[in-house]
Parts: sequence; C-alpha cells; structure tokens
Amino acid sequence: MLTEIRGLNEECGVFGIWGHPESAQVTYYGLHSLQHRGQEGAGIVVSDGEKLSCVKGEGLVNEVFAGGKLQELHGRAAIGHVRYATAGGGGFENVQPLLFHSQTGSIALAHNGNLVNANALKYQLEGQGSILQTSSDTEVLAHLIKRSGYPLFKDKVKNALSLLKGAYAFLIMTETEMMVALDPNGLRPLSLGMLGDAYVVASETCAFDIIGATYLRDVEPGELLIINDEGLHSERFSLHTQRAICSMEYIYFSRPDSNINGINVHTARKNLGKQLAMEAPVDADVVTGVPDSSISAAIGYAEWAELPYELGLIKNRYVGRTFIQPSQSLREQGVKMKLSPVRGVVEGKRVVMVDDSIVRGTTSRRIIQMLKEAGAKEVHVRISSPPMKNPCFYGIDTSTHEELIASAHSVEEIRQMIGADSLAFLSETGMLDAIGRSYDGETRGQCMACFTGKYPTEIYPDTVLPHEKC
Ligand code: SF4
Repeated sequence: MLTEIRGLNEECGVFGIWGHPESAQVTYYGLHSLQHRGQEGAGIVVSDGEKLSCVKGEGLVNEVFAGGKLQELHGRAAIGHVRYATAGGGGFENVQPLLFHSQTGSIALAHNGNLVNANALKYQLEGQGSILQTSSDTEVLAHLIKRSGYPLFKDKVKNALSLLKGAYAFLIMTETEMMVALDPNGLRPLSLGMLGDAYVVASETCAFDIIGATYLRDVEPGELLIINDEGLHSERFSLHTQRAICSMEYIYFSRPDSNINGINVHTARKNLGKQLAMEAPVDADVVTGVPDSSISAAIGYAEWAELPYELGLIKNRYVGRTFIQPSQSLREQGVKMKLSPVRGVVEGKRVVMVDDSIVRGTTSRRIIQMLKEAGAKEVHVRISSPPMKNPCFYGIDTSTHEELIASAHSVEEIRQMIGADSLAFLSETGMLDAIGRSYDGETRGQCMACFTGKYPTEIYPDTVLPHEKC
C-alpha cells in the first residue's frame, strides 16, 4: 500500500490476547501483521495478574521493540497497538496503549477509530476538573470510566462507552481482565479468535494467521466482551445498533489476506475490478494496478475484460519513511521514489491503470505522467470505488472537503487535471454488489459516507477541530 503518499491514511490497529504464557511475543507478531494500519508508533502493555507493564515508542514495531525490549514484558495477557499519527500531531505521549494508574488499580487502553464527540467530552471533563495528559481521543474513555458512579467495573465501562459517539474498536485491560468493545455501528473491523486456550482479538484476521490462531467470529456492533481467567462473556452496552462497516476497509485499507464479516478482502477487490470492467470497458492492450492495494482489482478488471494483466508499475519496497514529506512538491518526489513504471510492459501500449481511489489527485497525475514518459500510448484510469467527495470523521485522515479533488470537480474535470485519456469510477450500487455483503438495507451494512455524505452517526460542529485521532 502507498499509505504514505496517497493522502489517505488508516488510523491504527489493535491486538489483544488473554491466557498465554508468551503474551508479549504473540502480540508483537500480531502487531507486525497489522503494521500497514499505522507506522508511526507501537506499544504493548502486559498484565502479570498483579500489575501492568508497558513498552512503547515512535516508529515501526521492530524498531520500538529492538534491543531486547520485548523481554522486559512478562505476563499471560497483553494488548498492543500500532498507530498512524496525523500531521503536526503525534508525539510519544499519544503512542498507545495508554496506561493509567490509580489507587484502585490500573487501566490500559488501545483504540482504533475516531470519536466525533471527543472535543465536546473533553470540554465537559475539563469543566469537571479532569486534566488531560494527551491530545488523543482515547484518554477520554479512561476519564469517563473513572468518573462513572457505578460500583462494578464492567458497568462503569458500559456507562462510559454509551457516552461516546463515532468509531471505536477498544481494548481495555486491567490487572485481572480484558474488555473488548466495538461501537454501535461497527465502523472498524474487529475479530475474535483462539490460540490454544487463549482468546485473541485483532483489527484484522491476518493477525490470527501469522500466530496460528483460529478465527471464531467478528465482534458485534454494540458488544462488550469480557475476558478473564474464567473465560469469555459477552454483553451489550448499546441496543441501538446499525451496522456500517467502513467500505474503504474492503477497498483499500485491510490486507488482502484478511476476512471482514466472512468476506475475503482480495476476493472483494477482485470483484470490484470485474464490476468496474462491466461498467466502464475500454479498448486497450494491457491492464495494470497501482501497487499494492489496487492489484487485486486490476486482476479482476483484466479477467472480465479478457485483457492481459501486467506489472506496469513496480513499488520500491526499500524507500525509508523519511523520504515522505508533507509538502506538495516533496510528496510528488515521494511518488517517484516509491513507484517505477515498467517500460517493457507499457511502451507503445494502451494501458488501463486501475487504482482504488483518488484523494487529492496528485499521485494519480504523477503516475500517469510516469507511464507516459515510459512510452504508454494511452492511459485509461479506472477507479474501483465511487468518487470520494466527503471527509471521513471516523479515523481516516481526510477531514476537510478541500483535501478531496472529487468534492469540487466533475469526473471530466478530474480527468483533465490528472492527464488521463479517460477516467471512470465505480458506481455506488456496483460497489455494494461487488463486495457482496448479505445484510439488508440501502448500504448493506456499510458506511458509504465519504461517497454519499450520509454519515451513520451525528456529526458535531467541532468534530473537525484539530485533535489527535487514532
Ligand atoms: S466515511 Fe468513508 S473512509 Fe470514513 S468510515 Fe465511512 S466509508 Fe470509511
């Protein structure tokens, strides 16, 4: 995936395990497989039954735990986190899991998603005397739990969760139990599995494969799992649920070997490509995909169109993250460093270039230019999702209309701006049919807000104020 240069960034991945003697090591491998969901920071908190210990830092998982740091963590339960930091934000204090100590025990939190009422809750908490240590949304939950008047910890958690709005997959760990909560819309993926007798939870099922765990099921929207030495127990903290998993998880974010609600991500992408070929055929010689996330869709397009699929673009896997700079000119340089056209494949050919989305348009323009410089006769761009016209407030790093080229320009205008010979996006119904979820309703249990502007939750006036998401 080209997360660093596409202007579309995922906001974290979580992994947890309860009841395994090597919980920290297993969590390390789990986080490693979720690295695509965030490369700016990583951490693990372990419980030995009496206390919580934490190692975390900025950087990739293998950088954070280099030098024997993993050996500092002992215990039979752990939660871990990888994060993507928003521009200008970040810093060590926001790296998760967050760990809070009090007279009555400790709480560790790991969060994937973004709360839309975080700012409102922060004002309220500060007005009541709380001092927030981070700019992260996640800390809000710890304060709400602590302030809740219910005597039992699980009721405090349920009460606190009921006050949150937006997207959240939370792992909450104390010395004696782990809790797992998914927001009432189930906006982010979260799966449950088993490794021997240990329960495991992860943002994506690819984490189960790497550790040899068996997938049990996806966590339900509004569900609270309570896992301790007595086993697993499921409760509901909200009965007002309406499934709306992020469509972009299927289209772009998740790893192709992950399954979301029983649908394999690679298969979904291939079907998106086939549907795109049905909806927007073109006379061409070869089909190529923008690596890595668009390759499955390109294979599907080629298969349906009966055209050869070729590697017309190669990703340079050894470019350090430091090459990626936020300014426009350096972003363009970043594209060049990361991708190379294969002259022998595209020279003199009419190329269909399949991509999964267009955000700012900068990257598409540069890739098309590279393909033409390499001798492509024509470049026909096919996008395996509808035009992204609206910002995401649920944990994806597009929070203003200005960042989205499709919010202010027609398809023909975008075509001219990126320099393509033709351009087509997938239709909304075509996208839903191709992914093929079995849920009823207009959106088949998917969030489509960045395409349609119909948000599955309330959006608060200060939702877009700068704050650290995860
Ligand atoms: S608005 Fe778009 S990116 Fe955000 S959660 Fe919904 S589908 Fe995903």
